[in-house]
Amino acid sequence: MKKRKISTRSVERLSIYRRALMHGRHEFGSSVYSHQLAQACQLTAAQVRRDLMAIGYSGNPNSGYDVKRLLSSLATFLDSQETRAVAIVGMGYLGRAIAAFLANRSDKIRLVAAFDVDLDKIGLSFSDVRCYSVRQMPEVLAEKRIDIAIVTVPADHAQHVAEQLVAAGVTGILNFAPVVLRLPPRTYVENIDMSVSLEKVAFFACASQRRKAGSP
Ligand code: NAD
Repeated sequence: MKKRKISTRSVERLSIYRRALMHGRHEFGSSVYSHQLAQACQLTAAQVRRDLMAIGYSGNPNSGYDVKRLLSSLATFLDSQETRAVAIVGMGYLGRAIAAFLANRSDKIRLVAAFDVDLDKIGLSFSDVRCYSVRQMPEVLAEKRIDIAIVTVPADHAQHVAEQLVAAGVTGILNFAPVVLRLPPRTYVENIDMSVSLEKVAFFACASQRRKAGSP
């Protein structure tokens, strides 16, 4: 399937559809209608149809989408042909938790190396992944053909670490450090910040309580 130009939000939703289809296999059976998939993902049926049409997949209005074929189309679109090698930089609490989470999770994305500056961690394995010194980053990234990295270092080290990663050929970064990374536009950066999300939840939870209590 030819990869068309598609927005980051659409790619995110396609990934959500795949997860919903895999988790809801028993619920959906062999076929699924756009409204069912939309309901499972808390989206509209029109949005689901638009996203699937954007990857060249259209369902039969009478019988819905064939789940097996849809999953295969999503895999063709979302997954790269070969396994992608990933590294984590910063094997503290969060880095180690992510390593444990990623262990044997996907054949398409594999965590193959970790880096740290802490001599007590260098040379050890975490969830079967060896931790190297950051000084070894260029050789290890090249040797293991790593082009995706997860940054879990303290905020004041993140920019420097990210620049080292980009200089060594990394083109995709999942950044957990609470800083805005300034990198060349060819590098794709996705930021995850639990504090921002939690503040948002707290804000809306509070607003909802106020509405319940009848105050503006
Ligand atoms: P931590 O102190 O336990 O771990 C940081 C690790 O980074 C340590 O092992 C340290 O030796 C290593 N390190 C420091 N400088 C480095 C460098 N230049 N190169 C390589 N390794 C280096 O901290 P943590 O609790 O695991 O948090 C890590 C980061 O993730 C922090 O920036 C924190 O704010 C952030 N964080 C984000 C979220 C989120 O939701 N995004 C949640 C928790 C923590």
